[in-house]
Amino acid sequence: MDITRIRTPVLITGAGPAGLAMAIELGSRKIPCLVVERNDRVGYAPRAKTTHTRTREHLRRWGIAGELAAASPFGVDYPSNVLFVTRLGGHCLHKIDNAFSCAPEKTDFYSEHAQWIPQYKLEELLRAHAETLPGVELRFDTEFVSCTQDAQRVHSVLKNRKTGTEYTVESDFLVGSDGARSVIRTLIGAKLEGVYGLSRNYNVVFRAPGLAEAHPHGRAIMYWQINADAPSLIGPMDSGDRWFFMPTGVPEGVTLSNDEAAALIRKATGIDLPYEVLSTDEWVASRLIADKYRDRRIFLAGDACHLHPPFGGYGMNMGISDSVDLGWKLAAFIEGWGGPLLLDSYERERRPVHQLVIEEAVRNHAVLGGQLWRERLEEDGAAGDAARAEVGELIALTKTREFQSLGFVLGYCYQHSPIIAYNNADPAPPASPNYQPSAAPGCLAPHLWLEDGRSLYDTFGPGFTLLAVDGREANGIVVASTEAAEYGVPLKVEVLGDPRLAELYAAPLVLIRPDQHVAWRGEVWPGQVLLDLVTGWPAEKHL
Ligand SMILES: Cc1cc2nc3c(=O)[nH]c(=O)nc-3n(C[C@H](O)[C@H](O)[C@H](O)COP(=O)(O)OP(=O)(O)OC[C@H]3O[C@@H](n4cnc5c(N)ncnc54)[C@H](O)[C@@H]3O)c2cc1C
Repeated sequence: MDITRIRTPVLITGAGPAGLAMAIELGSRKIPCLVVERNDRVGYAPRAKTTHTRTREHLRRWGIAGELAAASPFGVDYPSNVLFVTRLGGHCLHKIDNAFSCAPEKTDFYSEHAQWIPQYKLEELLRAHAETLPGVELRFDTEFVSCTQDAQRVHSVLKNRKTGTEYTVESDFLVGSDGARSVIRTLIGAKLEGVYGLSRNYNVVFRAPGLAEAHPHGRAIMYWQINADAPSLIGPMDSGDRWFFMPTGVPEGVTLSNDEAAALIRKATGIDLPYEVLSTDEWVASRLIADKYRDRRIFLAGDACHLHPPFGGYGMNMGISDSVDLGWKLAAFIEGWGGPLLLDSYERERRPVHQLVIEEAVRNHAVLGGQLWRERLEEDGAAGDAARAEVGELIALTKTREFQSLGFVLGYCYQHSPIIAYNNADPAPPASPNYQPSAAPGCLAPHLWLEDGRSLYDTFGPGFTLLAVDGREANGIVVASTEAAEYGVPLKVEVLGDPRLAELYAAPLVLIRPDQHVAWRGEVWPGQVLLDLVTGWPAEKHL
């Protein structure tokens, strides 16, 4: 291991999804960075399984969405159904199809469908890709210990966990993507606000050959078991008959040894098979958000600054999008064309989004198996049928939104950002689970499959893109290119004459940011003042 390199533009602590995404975003923009991870590899915890459409769109931009599809343990077209049952070996109560939009079909709403895949597989892919990028270095068995900062740099003390050697790294910026127990959060004096411990739960990974064939419900990504013995989620996790079992709302003081976990799986499923427990992991659902995400040159991303119940699958996906938002801004600042307001905008854009999805995740968490259970649910005959019909309706009413909320995945808009050119007459639509594409400033640029089969997003450049949606090279786009070149701002002009685009974007010119959000839309290029705003320079820059 080379520990002689002690200077890097960006030091990233933690090679979880947020840290790896940060390394890729920077590395793709040719900004060198060093990622330090105290474990000896990525992918320790078998936690997330939902990779949202937006995350896969980031992967598409990085050129690795196809590789993630290829890594699907059961094939990317495995049906993403969610089944509510009394037990895996019991009655079916309700079925939700195409949860999270995982079906590999083309719709104009997105360039990539979601994917059900273990987090450790995604992390392995992100690590492998990060390591191909020039300037990106990953050091495992390396612990971030402490840091100080001055006006020019951050001085961090790292420790090689194999040798015990400590050494210092100097960086222009430090990103704390060091997870829920973030040391960096404490070091910058950020406090978590909210509630710790909404519920206590377990995540058990086990092997059970024959389980898929032993139940009558058909293929699904997860089965919610609504029974009095152990309200829980269970589902296939990986090839090799590997499954997960997640008892929810486990009372304080109850612990699960491997043998107890195996017995509980047997009881909860009602299926008597040999269950080999591979790991048991206690986790606590909380609603917590840091009161600040930054102290000068140090930033927080991912679980380090927001923690919410995993129902709806937002945590990891949010962390990756945090890194996309911060990554291009740090790159722009380091390259010199981005101004100080770019860095200020990170927290102002991301924190309200985190608050929105925290509310949503807490809402999802409020109705788990324990709340859905009713007496007689498992009885044979008319009384049992009536109880099951009642609970089936309740599930449809209370749980559908958890699995069909594209609006919270693609539809959030940055509404209070200093680097977006808002127009009071052109507000973003309010947040809603149903995705309504909008090209209002701050929103994700609406997606479309072009007539030649390309994704609209594939026409965007790595920097800003000025989209002339009426197909005319007028309205000042030549001036825009000249001004961007003069100030070193990467700008691609894309002239597209598809009438559907004109309708979707509702303005002839649209300026799209490197992260595919709309920075401005209008009739005529307003000039240098707009470039200054969207690249984070205060208005007085040229005075
Ligand atoms: C049961 C469960 C299911 C979930 N399901 C989903 C889901 O379906 N979809 C979803 O989006 N999210 C889900 N989540 C949430 C998701 O797992 C987390 O949000 C995600 O892992 C956070 O990523 P991160 O990179 O911010 O932090 P982490 O994944 O925690 O990574 C932080 C990394 O930093 C390292 N580190 C910490 N301190 C140091 C240090 N001092 N020095 C060096 N390295 C350090 C750690 O070893 C770790 O590798 C789930 C969570 C749970 C518990």
